[in-house]
Amino acid sequence: MKQVYFFDEGDGKNKKLLGGKGAGLCEMTRLKLPVPPGFTITTEVCNKYYENNKKLPKTLMVEVKKNIAKIEKKTGKKWNSKSNPLLVSVRSGAAISMPGMMDTILNLGLNDQTVLGLSEKSNNPRFAWDSYRRFIQLFGKVVFGVDDKKFDDVLNAAKRKQNVEVDSDLNEESLKEIVSQYKQICDNHTGRKFPTDPTEQVELAIKAVFGSWMGERAIVYREKNNITKDIADGTAVNIVSMAFGNMGNDCATGVVFTRNPGDGSRKIYGEYLINAQGEDVVAGVRTGKQVDEMKTDLPQSYKQLAQTCERLEKHYKEPQDIEFTIEQGRFYLLQTRNAKMNAVGMVKTSVDMVKEKLIDKNRAITRLQAEQLEQLLHKRIDPEQIKNYTQLAKGIAASPGAASGIAVLDVKRATTMGENGAKVILIREETKPEDVPAFFESVGILTSRGGKTSHAAVVARGMGKPCIVGCSELKIDVDNKQCSVDGKIVREGDSITIDGSTGNVYIGDIPTIEPKVNEDFKLILEWAQNAKKIGIRANADTPEGAKLARGFGGQGIGLCRTERMFNGSDRINLFVDMIMAENIEERSKILKKLGELQKSDFIEILQAMEGYEVTIRLLDPPLHEFLPNPEELSEKIRKLELRNETNEANAARNVLKRARELAEINPMMGHRGVRVGITYPEIYEMQIRAVFEALVELTKKNVKAHPQIMIPQISSIAELNHIKKIYDSIKKEMETVHKMKLKINFGTMIEVVRAALTANELASTAEFFSFGTNDLTQGTFSFSREDVEGKFLPEYMEKELLERNPFQSIDVNGVGSLIKMGIAAGRGVRPGMEVGICGEHGGDPSSIKFCHSAGLSYVSASPHRIPIAIVAAAQAAIEQSKAKPKSKAKPKSKAKPKSKAKPKSKAKPKSKAKPKSKAKPKRR
Ligand code: PEP
Ligand code: MG
Repeated sequence: MKQVYFFDEGDGKNKKLLGGKGAGLCEMTRLKLPVPPGFTITTEVCNKYYENNKKLPKTLMVEVKKNIAKIEKKTGKKWNSKSNPLLVSVRSGAAISMPGMMDTILNLGLNDQTVLGLSEKSNNPRFAWDSYRRFIQLFGKVVFGVDDKKFDDVLNAAKRKQNVEVDSDLNEESLKEIVSQYKQICDNHTGRKFPTDPTEQVELAIKAVFGSWMGERAIVYREKNNITKDIADGTAVNIVSMAFGNMGNDCATGVVFTRNPGDGSRKIYGEYLINAQGEDVVAGVRTGKQVDEMKTDLPQSYKQLAQTCERLEKHYKEPQDIEFTIEQGRFYLLQTRNAKMNAVGMVKTSVDMVKEKLIDKNRAITRLQAEQLEQLLHKRIDPEQIKNYTQLAKGIAASPGAASGIAVLDVKRATTMGENGAKVILIREETKPEDVPAFFESVGILTSRGGKTSHAAVVARGMGKPCIVGCSELKIDVDNKQCSVDGKIVREGDSITIDGSTGNVYIGDIPTIEPKVNEDFKLILEWAQNAKKIGIRANADTPEGAKLARGFGGQGIGLCRTERMFNGSDRINLFVDMIMAENIEERSKILKKLGELQKSDFIEILQAMEGYEVTIRLLDPPLHEFLPNPEELSEKIRKLELRNETNEANAARNVLKRARELAEINPMMGHRGVRVGITYPEIYEMQIRAVFEALVELTKKNVKAHPQIMIPQISSIAELNHIKKIYDSIKKEMETVHKMKLKINFGTMIEVVRAALTANELASTAEFFSFGTNDLTQGTFSFSREDVEGKFLPEYMEKELLERNPFQSIDVNGVGSLIKMGIAAGRGVRPGMEVGICGEHGGDPSSIKFCHSAGLSYVSASPHRIPIAIVAAAQAAIEQSKAKPKSKAKPKSKAKPKSKAKPKSKAKPKSKAKPKSKAKPKRR
């Protein structure tokens, strides 16, 4: 096993072995860029170190010494020399960058002798003693674990004594005194003399850097960022000859991006400092100068920097984030890595680099993080303004975007105030279906309980409203109309700002920035549309949602939840009356009225999606979800009785009786979906008829409408056939009356485990399948989504019993197997059958990748997720074609308009796409 790679022996490919920093330094050396000589100890050695009970492999130090000799040869400097000493930095570097999480030591090799050599060679004793005191402090802290404060106290005392404000004004005498005291601090801490032998110093430093891999900071960072062993396994150690940016005014150090990471523009961006060491820039000890000023300060070096940036970009085909040092006019590169940018920057650089012929369109798509594009689709808090406001709390980011408004803790008050034009942020412990009217009237929702798929989260996401849930530090006191965190109080009426993309809550009204769906992003989406194989449809149940989805590039509706159409204030009472009807005649009369309303909704939605398929799902929730909560109703009755309002009290008592009759112990598995359709056939009849009538009307107007009817909660072919008979008879009747052929596909959801297991039977009747992965996940795990997410699921993930939340990202081994089985069984009976998914997973990039590989025809996502879904689908297609260059991936998607009728708007995102947001959420 080769333990050490001199920089000219390695290359940039093996980051797992050499770490990102080591691989970068090797690659730059290979490119003959000016990297200070050095070498990398591999991550394998780090693992050996832990396997050997924290002992370095026996031969390691021999190798290290050999490589130090190589550095001596290259630099002409000497290890432990009194005249021209070689000093090195010892830097950590794992396969994945973990900024600030592991340790680094600079200026190693200094002792009471070599400091004199450095002083003489640099002709700058102050610099030499300053380097020495920095070294002892870093070494003491990293290797011996000395508290930084002890060093700072000495430093501050010295400044007071010399009567100066800043470190750089300390003179040689003061620095010598500091060095002596620093050594004493270390000696007191360890009970031994500070190590003077550079080889011993380097050995201790290597051990300390390996040790920092398992430091608490690093472990937590890896956990938080999902950095598993297969991504980064141990840290490498880089030993690099020191280049000094702090030897005088012909020295400098800086950190720059080859392009602006904020807007992607092609201009070197960053800061530098004259006569400083790198850490001064990073730690912000001194404020850096804009890199542009280097053109006049150090013109030669700027030229070299600019050339280097260009060279690195050409080589890596990615904007770079680089660290450099100029030592007495000589330019050195200390690090390069791919620049981290915001979404605007990533999108612009993708487009620009294609125009510059640096990358192709496929690379332009795959280099994006689909999830990050969310930033471009929602309002954001102005980052410049954040510093002027106090953060109140942090919760779970549940629905992206930022909103400012006044805090309101009561549902009724929120509704009224919102209706009167106030910008309201609704704050609740949790929300229930009956709170939904307040969602419509609020600009954002904040709850102290619940997880990402709690009621508040799901409903807010459906409406495209910012939402934070599970903000447990927020203590809500409804009675006193206030909430607080650690003594910071927000009273009802005070302004707050929530950022549903980060989960942060702030006090005050922070200005926000409108989303930017700019020309660059449109171009990326166009390329992605062409590259993807799988169809992208929308979960939408309003004409506004359908238009929005189409504007974003959605090609059809994969799920139109019809129950949401009953939630509007003009319909809910009618629906309640229908449930309360005492006989079939009465119920049919009301259903007729509801049928008219549904028909007009369907017409508008089908029109908005002209040319594309629109899958209309018949009623799904249990009927009691539409009735008021029995406890609140009892309270209402009590009050009505007190006021002697007998008629109203009697009416309410009737509703209460019915609500109790319909109440269920486990409603998610109770009387819902097709089971309601079977026991109250008149409801499904009304809905099926409304779809047919909508089609008739649109056909007469020459609008190319393609509705499909889908039945929820099917678990057996018998159920499906039962409804199919109703469908057939209405179809026949409609075709006879209207004298036209009416084509409406009849299909089923697969969201019950038994449906997946008997998909071959279902396919004999169903013309299409749509996997309802929300219910299917619940059923497969036997997890009640809303209960588990807020309770034990986080602990399951912490204990690594679950890698990911299966409600957010498809559980490939379990639910994924059912999906694959279902597809195979369905298509075995009905070759080429259309099969999609319409659960929340349809908008999740990694689930979309699974759907692509499983051969689904389309995924259906909420309108705002459509651009993300398009990019994720394109990435899946590109990655697959790279993996199997010769295979002809068959496009399963029916993403093209079915008829030749041209869709009125092209599937391009609109720039200021704003949800009109009367999207009616599902009542849960
Ligand atoms: C599903 O179960 O995945 C689904 C889409 O249905 P709903 O979320 O409406 O229950
Ligand atoms: Mg469902």
